[in-house]
Amino acid sequence: MSVEKTRRTFLLAGLGLLAGCATTSSRTRLPGVPWAEGRPAGSASPRPVDLSGAVESPVRSPIASSPTQAFGGAIPRSAWATGAPVPSRMDPLTGIHRMTLHHDGMTPFASTSQNDAAARIDAIRRAHQAQGWGDVGYHFLIDPAGRVWEGRYLQFQGAHVKDRNPGNIGIVCLGNFERQHPTPAQVESLRDFVRRIQMAYRIPLSRIQTHRELAATLCPGASLQSRINQLRGGGSFS
Ligand SMILES: [Zn+2]
Repeated sequence: MSVEKTRRTFLLAGLGLLAGCATTSSRTRLPGVPWAEGRPAGSASPRPVDLSGAVESPVRSPIASSPTQAFGGAIPRSAWATGAPVPSRMDPLTGIHRMTLHHDGMTPFASTSQNDAAARIDAIRRAHQAQGWGDVGYHFLIDPAGRVWEGRYLQFQGAHVKDRNPGNIGIVCLGNFERQHPTPAQVESLRDFVRRIQMAYRIPLSRIQTHRELAATLCPGASLQSRINQLRGGGSFS
């Protein structure tokens, strides 16, 4: 095990969590880098021009109408994040044409407390940023009470599916759906929010997929996969 990997193990062990949907069935496996950011920090590729001086500072999404109002009424990132995004580590999100649905794959989570959800989302963010990512990898997160939370700003490409992040909005349901069932409120909220994004960006049903449909992973877990199959079953996401 490399020094770098040992350090990551320590950092994640400190969280007591496995942050992010894993690519294998092992609960103890680290998230690794299969859906890591597109390039190492500091490489010479183009960056969003208007963000060049904004590293370490919160940035506003041009899609959000204000810093406290996220897309679709989601709870804004500012309500939960204890650390800022790092724009220099992220690519712009352009040509939105796909959505990918996930679970977080950590320990089962059924709390309907807003504070508990915020803490879990922030733990995922910290773990993702500890790997060198610019922010939490997902754009939106849905908790067991059905609240929708803003994650990575929509102006930035997500980090949630290996080789399929461009143009792809990442949505995660908090919990581990290999080991629990999503709540009715969570499924209803997922359905409504996915439809909202689908309409806003004209995303065809065939491109509303789960992580396991794009990569070798159990994500989003058997029980959530089953519910998503039902939602898509009638030819629309409903
Ligand atoms: Zn996933």
